[in-house]
Amino acid sequence: MMKSSYVEQMKNYREIFWINDSYTGEYNGDLITEDMVRDASDRLKRFAPYILKAFPETAATGGIIESPLKEIPDMKKYLEARYDIEVPGKVYLKCDSHLAVSGSVKARGGIYEILKLAEKIAMDEGLLKEGDDYSIIDSDEFRKVFSGYKVAVGSTGNLGLSIGIISAKLGFDVTVHMSADARQWKKDMLRSKGVTVVEYPDDYQKAVAEGRKAAAADPKCHFVDDESSRDLFCGYAVAAERIRGQFERENIVPSEENPVFVYLPCGVGGAPGGVTYGLKKMFGEHIHCFFAEPTHAPCMTLGLITGEHEKISCRDVGIDGRTNADGLAVGRPSPLVSNIMETLLEGAFTVDDGQLIPLAENLLKLEDIYIEPSACAAFPGIKGVAESEEYREMAAKGTHVFWATGGSMVPEELRFED
Ligand SMILES: *Cc1c(COP(=O)(O)O)cnc(C)c1O
Repeated sequence: MMKSSYVEQMKNYREIFWINDSYTGEYNGDLITEDMVRDASDRLKRFAPYILKAFPETAATGGIIESPLKEIPDMKKYLEARYDIEVPGKVYLKCDSHLAVSGSVKARGGIYEILKLAEKIAMDEGLLKEGDDYSIIDSDEFRKVFSGYKVAVGSTGNLGLSIGIISAKLGFDVTVHMSADARQWKKDMLRSKGVTVVEYPDDYQKAVAEGRKAAAADPKCHFVDDESSRDLFCGYAVAAERIRGQFERENIVPSEENPVFVYLPCGVGGAPGGVTYGLKKMFGEHIHCFFAEPTHAPCMTLGLITGEHEKISCRDVGIDGRTNADGLAVGRPSPLVSNIMETLLEGAFTVDDGQLIPLAENLLKLEDIYIEPSACAAFPGIKGVAESEEYREMAAKGTHVFWATGGSMVPEELRFED
């Protein structure tokens, strides 16, 4: 299909499945390097004794925040019936919906960025050296020092939870700037932990802009920039190294005989982009990553299809941005991520909001796993792949992994609320 006809379909809120012509599988630019990701992985290991002490729920993984990879055979049957496709291979859910501390994929990038900040401050203040047992950070002495520093972030919700919870735990003075569509329970939970929550009547991008402005005026304030943070990106990218062992235990070796398809819900792009970068560097050409976006907020897909990246927004072409998929309600993609995804991302697809709740309900019923409806945007990707001429044969012999990006902290009575 021509680029322009994709955009026409998107303007009409049609679901599309797009394959990226610019895909090469390589990224050799210098915005992110493998050294930066390794550094993030090493830092998370240094912090494990602190995480273990501050968040005892991480005991099973020794202070490493990681989620299970679960096979979902009954959901697979449901998807085959729902989309009238056949999927002979195994189907898995990567349960970042159940990551410790903040219950979403943001526990990867968000917590990493704040730990890096805390380490730098503690080292600059002469309180910490690299070889120390980092559990000493969970103390009044450290909290007193961190309380002299501020952290700010703009968020639709889950990044705010992640940054708010870890920053407050360390002792930082933390403010989360939230858009109007952010869920009330998230604001309430943050306030209960001592986080300052500022609400804006406008959308996510406005909350980010206001947060950035407030932080810029204060040299002791660190602003977590969801639109261009390399630290967030690197924290997400560490996921690849973690999933490698899980793949080995399941005998999944991405190869010509067993291509692995990964479907990732995308908002501004940081989380799925970081994961994709990590996976492509770790496993190479036989891992195939696709982003999922709502038909009403397909910012990354639009930016990549048109080649305009962050220079084009959904509103520029008349797409209204109105979606119930709150983590994905973003009108303009991250410049950092869209640049890197230009050659690493194999394709993207859009999903009608009406699919999300039925998918979430069936996952709960069939597999006893609850994930946020917005995270269910990943599932329809299997239809696009299985039906496309380009991928049909590969899809039939391959393995499919849906990246569940959030859910375990959602209060039970609000699970299926729009
Ligand atoms: C944040 C989020 C995403 C996407 O991450 P981005 O970095 O914004 O692309 C996907 N799903 C959920 C539930 C999220 O909270």
